[in-house]
Amino acid sequence: MLERSIEVLLGRPVREAEAREAEQIIAGGPLFIMLPPSLNAAFRLFRQRGLHEYILIGAGPLLALYALICVFGTYFFFAVASPEEMRRWYLGCTFVGILLIIGVLLVLPRKAQATYAQRVFLPALLILTKLVVAPQVFTPIEMAISESYFCMLAVIVVVLALRLNLFTCVLMIGLTALASTVVFAILGVVPRFGEVFFYFISASALCLFIRWQLEENEKVSFLQALLIDHHSEQERAMARELAELANTDTLTGLANRRVFNERLEAEWQRLIRREAPLSLLYLDVDHFKPFNDTYGHDHGDQCLILVAGAISQCLRRPEDLVARYGGEEFVVLLPGVDTEGAIDVATRMIAAVDALMIENEGAEPSGFVTLSIGSATRIPSRDSSPESLLRLADQALYKAKENGRHGHCMAPPDALVS
Ligand code: GH3
Ligand code: MG
Ligand code: MG
Repeated sequence: MLERSIEVLLGRPVREAEAREAEQIIAGGPLFIMLPPSLNAAFRLFRQRGLHEYILIGAGPLLALYALICVFGTYFFFAVASPEEMRRWYLGCTFVGILLIIGVLLVLPRKAQATYAQRVFLPALLILTKLVVAPQVFTPIEMAISESYFCMLAVIVVVLALRLNLFTCVLMIGLTALASTVVFAILGVVPRFGEVFFYFISASALCLFIRWQLEENEKVSFLQALLIDHHSEQERAMARELAELANTDTLTGLANRRVFNERLEAEWQRLIRREAPLSLLYLDVDHFKPFNDTYGHDHGDQCLILVAGAISQCLRRPEDLVARYGGEEFVVLLPGVDTEGAIDVATRMIAAVDALMIENEGAEPSGFVTLSIGSATRIPSRDSSPESLLRLADQALYKAKENGRHGHCMAPPDALVS
């Protein structure tokens, strides 16, 4: 499943050009990785993997940490703050608490993953702004410094723990600075640098740097996963091609002798259980040696390709099999087909090759490429073997040749294998 992950995210196989670009990026190790635009959407989905589980696991501890800060803050501030300042502290705790709960509720549904960043953005921005402003409204230095620490903690959570991308984090920090400046202007307070911006700016700078590095690593992991995907797809394609080659006759594209022998054996066993007939046709192109001698081997090859196409067209059921048995000989397996059915198929095949009207001046008397077919039909049993059916059809073919070629001969129902 993992190896197919990027293909699943992309909704299509990885393109050759994308794989080459990924290789170049990884080898070059640039400071800022720019992904090919066609991969951006998949990268977003890649980053969201496991996000829902992460939210489910993370929400509880986050709320617990917040409750702990509120309880300890209240305990310590009680000794230093005036009732008015304690009122502001409680108000602030409630404000942040409500935003936190709203934020968690917004991202809890599984379908919220797709719009996760948009959903957490506003609550996070408001909390950060509140925590940047708060140190200014408390007179006791202990309270102001503690609030600044809380602000640092909030920056760490927002930039590092929320799994937002670097751009969103930079936007969030920038807007927080802007919003708090506006609030200062409205409240008419001159911010004390030490208690506010030092903590906020230093925490933001450090966390944004770490976020940038994390994001670069995520991009590298994404590209590596993409390459693994691409290589395993190439291997699968190669394996498919090899399997195809092993089963196919290279000239005509029909099944080869090996496949035919395997199917014959399998059908024989299956039809013993079903007590149904199995028909086998043995086809041979008449006077093919003179054809080669007259028109050349290449024309001979083209002729075999045409004959293969014509006889394939005569089969309609998926369980029928036509194979090139060797040289200018073909075999057809017709499971569940009785004597009449076999005669019908053989007649159609002879007619289909006649319809090709391939000239063969060495073929007397027709002057065209023709087929001779021997067939045998038996209900498979444990007393005989699939090879016996093949030999019966071969003997029938010999008869067809003896009868003057360009025709069909059937093994008599009581014929014994010699
Ligand atoms: P008959 O009517 O008795 O079947 O006579 P024939 O000439 O067809 O029989 P024979 O078995 O003597 O000749 C078969 C010829 O098929 C000989 C061989 O050169 C040719 N042949 C076998 N495989 C190929 C092939 O892949 N391509 C071409 N062009 N010729 C092939
Ligand atoms: Mg032959
Ligand atoms: Mg022949």
